[in-house]
Amino acid sequence: MIFEQPRSPLRLVERERPTAGPGQALIRVRACGVCRTDLHLLDGEVAVPAPPRILGHQIVGTIEAIGAESPTAPAGEETAAELALGARVGVPWLGFTCGSCRYCRSGRENLCPRARFTGRDIDGGFADWTVADLRYCFPIPAGFSDIQAAPLLCAGLIGYRALRFCEGAHRIGLYGFGASAHILAQVIRHQQREVFAFTRAGDREAQELARSLGADWVGSSEQAPPVELEAAIIFAPLGPLMTSALRVIAPGGAVVSAGIHMSDIPSFPYSLLWMERSLRSVANLTRRDGHELLALAPQVPIKTHVSTYPLERVNEALDELRGGRLTGAAVVTIA
Ligand SMILES: [Zn+2]
Ligand SMILES: [Zn+2]
Repeated sequence: MIFEQPRSPLRLVERERPTAGPGQALIRVRACGVCRTDLHLLDGEVAVPAPPRILGHQIVGTIEAIGAESPTAPAGEETAAELALGARVGVPWLGFTCGSCRYCRSGRENLCPRARFTGRDIDGGFADWTVADLRYCFPIPAGFSDIQAAPLLCAGLIGYRALRFCEGAHRIGLYGFGASAHILAQVIRHQQREVFAFTRAGDREAQELARSLGADWVGSSEQAPPVELEAAIIFAPLGPLMTSALRVIAPGGAVVSAGIHMSDIPSFPYSLLWMERSLRSVANLTRRDGHELLALAPQVPIKTHVSTYPLERVNEALDELRGGRLTGAAVVTIA
């Protein structure tokens, strides 16, 4: 299913099976999660630099071939032993980094200016086959089906990364209770912290899901929770939620935006930020985030709430996501 230009549905085409180059794996795709970023790409809010492109960056599949080892692979980046032929792997949004810039050298490869992203700069997983750099493939823990695992690879990862910036917070607000928040809520509860779930007013399905996952409080984004929060993560792409969250967090608290795109943040009085409150974004992921979350997932254990769509119906999944009609995560399955 290829992306050709913004605001046109993805189109089903037949292509030659790709081949794995040096240091790459040829992967038979089993499932691929649908992310709000796919929607931003499709709607032209985030550019696709060189269409046509296969979108999809929450890929689960099996390695069917491995290209020759890259002679230029930096030391310490050898392929993990578990990534052999037949292994079940996950491919995330981060598909390549330079390994030599100041971000890469300081554990912040998510900010690498030469980073390439799966399903934007590199063909992704809305296809029967894909090719990925072995260094950016994660082994999928046994006990997770392909469909269950797919949403961990971006929805889970961006939430997990956002949670790093809520260190020390016990009461955490999650604004927008979709694919990411429903995973992160389980992690937060597992860490014996409290979840405050904010949904669109009247979104009963999302509120039900939040309650079933153990949220300590559930309400609409306009509501004030009964107690002060210590951090908030914004998953909905709505700038005004940043200031809504600032109003309900305690001094020293953080408001973290986890999306790649957001509508404008309205101006607000400095008093909302005063007392060492902070407002920040998180971007992408590092491989460390991926390995940590996938190690944690079976311990929680994370259960993803998934609606599945066959590959050729991925446009329907994207429409449902745009219309706010999805509860939990959408995953495309490949027969
Ligand atoms: Zn770099
Ligand atoms: Zn994503």
